[in-house]
Amino acid sequence: MSRTYIPLPLRRAIAREARYRCGYCLSPELLSGLPLTIDHLTPLSVGGSNEPENLWLACRSCNESKGNRTVGIDWETGKTVPLFNPRTQSWHEHFQWDENGTHIVGLTPIGRVTVTMLNLNHEIIVMARGRWVAAGWHPPAE
Ligand SMILES: [Zn+2]
Repeated sequence: MSRTYIPLPLRRAIAREARYRCGYCLSPELLSGLPLTIDHLTPLSVGGSNEPENLWLACRSCNESKGNRTVGIDWETGKTVPLFNPRTQSWHEHFQWDENGTHIVGLTPIGRVTVTMLNLNHEIIVMARGRWVAAGWHPPAE
C-alpha cells in the first residue's frame, strides 16, 4: 500500500464535505468530466499526513500546480505567505470572480499567491468557464 493510499470511504467523505468541487478553483466534478483528486493540504513530503484534517478535494490542474509547495511570495507586498487552505479558510474572504465570472481574483496576499502559484486562470479553464457562464452554470452560487 503506497503512502498516498486513501481508503475509498474516506475519499467519498472528503468529496462530500468539499461539495464535489475543487477547493481552490471551485470547478465542479460534474462540469470537468474527470474525477477530482485528493489534495494533501500539507504535502506528505513535508510532513503532512493522510488524516482527514489534511485532505481536501482539488482538480488535477490545481493539485499538480501546487505540487509540494506550501507558501509563495505575494507580488504586491513582497511577503512570503501560505497558500490558501480550503479546509480551514473561507474562499470568498480570499478570492472573488471577475465581472465575467471567468477569472479568479485574489483579494488578499494568500489569495494572490494562490491564484499565481496554482495557475487558477489558465487559458483552458478560462475558456471552459466562459461556456459554463453562458450555460448559466457558473459562477457557483453563494
Ligand atoms: Zn482547481
